[in-house]
Amino acid sequence: METSLHSFRDHLATVDETGHRKWVFAQKPKGKWYNWRSYISWGFFVLFFTLPFVYVKGRPLFLFNIPNARFIIFGKVFWPQDFFIFGLTMVTFIIFVILFTAAFGRLFCGWICPQTIFMEMLFRKVEYAIEGDAAAQKLLKKAPWSTQKILKKISKHSVFYLLAFVIANTFLAYIIGVRELWKIMTGSPSEHIGGLFSILLFSGVFYSVYAFFREQACTVVCPYGRLQSVLLDRNSMIVAYDHRRGEPRGKFSKKAEATQGDCIDCFQCVKVCPTGIDIRNGTQMECVGCTACIDACNHMMEKTGRPLDLIRYASENGISNHEPLRYTLRMKLYTGLLCILVVILSALLLSRKDVDATIMRTPGMLYQERGKDSVTNLYTIKIANKTTRQVPLGIRLEDKGGQIEVIGGQTIPVKREEEGAGNFFVVLPRRSIQDRKTSIRLGLYEGDHKIDEIRTNFLGPLPDKDND
Ligand code: SF4
Ligand code: SF4
Repeated sequence: METSLHSFRDHLATVDETGHRKWVFAQKPKGKWYNWRSYISWGFFVLFFTLPFVYVKGRPLFLFNIPNARFIIFGKVFWPQDFFIFGLTMVTFIIFVILFTAAFGRLFCGWICPQTIFMEMLFRKVEYAIEGDAAAQKLLKKAPWSTQKILKKISKHSVFYLLAFVIANTFLAYIIGVRELWKIMTGSPSEHIGGLFSILLFSGVFYSVYAFFREQACTVVCPYGRLQSVLLDRNSMIVAYDHRRGEPRGKFSKKAEATQGDCIDCFQCVKVCPTGIDIRNGTQMECVGCTACIDACNHMMEKTGRPLDLIRYASENGISNHEPLRYTLRMKLYTGLLCILVVILSALLLSRKDVDATIMRTPGMLYQERGKDSVTNLYTIKIANKTTRQVPLGIRLEDKGGQIEVIGGQTIPVKREEEGAGNFFVVLPRRSIQDRKTSIRLGLYEGDHKIDEIRTNFLGPLPDKDND
């Protein structure tokens, strides 16, 4: 066991002795887990390809407009002003990922990750349909170029590019929205050079990843994959080989049954692995938890009449010490932290306003005396209207008995999903001014509906000076 441990840690399963890449010809898995993953992938495809078309009250249900720093999640718009909510959401998400990984290992990678789903459940299936299973693919690769080989390669890569093109467009729809995407597709190319370039760029990237780069996205590039070594511990649930039951491995023979373990060294678990590793070597960063090896091994166990689940979901402690999956102290601490963050985030989301305003006294101005009885201050208001309707914003003074004079009209109109600004005077009677700075409350209204209340300072002459 020690020797094999050292040798597999010394090299990458997908790189040969000369440093060249070894192409992984993964055999098509069959079995219960593969079926379940297929069902989930259909659900994923339906959601992925339809969500950009879902609009609520004239705005998309989801939009991740990174260039304009505008995000819509479940129909709620997040502006740059909501950045702290977004930042906290990211922190909460990271804690969730850490907790989830500590408990369930790479369950996400194998079942939900778009990279795995597109690769294994779409592109790989197309490849099986056109070029056949792994053995046929190997033969085709070695075969000299013939009409049949050229046709198969052209068909496969054409379908791959078409799928990549559709994925790229959908991906772009999540960033700019389907309506904008439609304009790019139907408008004059000269007016949408940037958009067309993005479509071609994304299509090229997706095509390259699924046609050539493949498992290396998980084993070399993905930061989440790189973090597995620190996120997992011996109590995390992983796809694991039961070495206590399986070893010593040996070719299947009725005679040897009494002296050897259950592993018949058939290599079926290795042949189906999309990252080309041997799960019998133990936990490896390259394992994406796809369960293909569980299905392959169970098939062999059935054929040889042995108990199933020689490879199964289990923790390392579960395999070595027969311990059940445990909710460890580390997981409890993460859960506590996660709960606190969720509570804070919920409070922020619930108190978040659809119309946000900031009020400042106009810079460089003190106060102005108006006649003998009144003093005025000039203010600037900036408003972010996150709703899908125009908001005529009214301002009222909530205390001190003075009045508001909005410059240019009774209200400040702010267009839907835009920012607006305006200026207004607050006029206070001298008797309300008790100090150099008087705190006042301003109510923001849409019609008679109060949207918000903001406190600010009003500058005025000192009452003593006034009396002199
Ligand atoms: S070792 Fe098994 S679970 Fe891990 S990637 Fe390979 S086939 Fe999938
Ligand atoms: S599929 Fe099962 S029996 Fe065959 S080599 Fe892998 S672990 Fe051993």
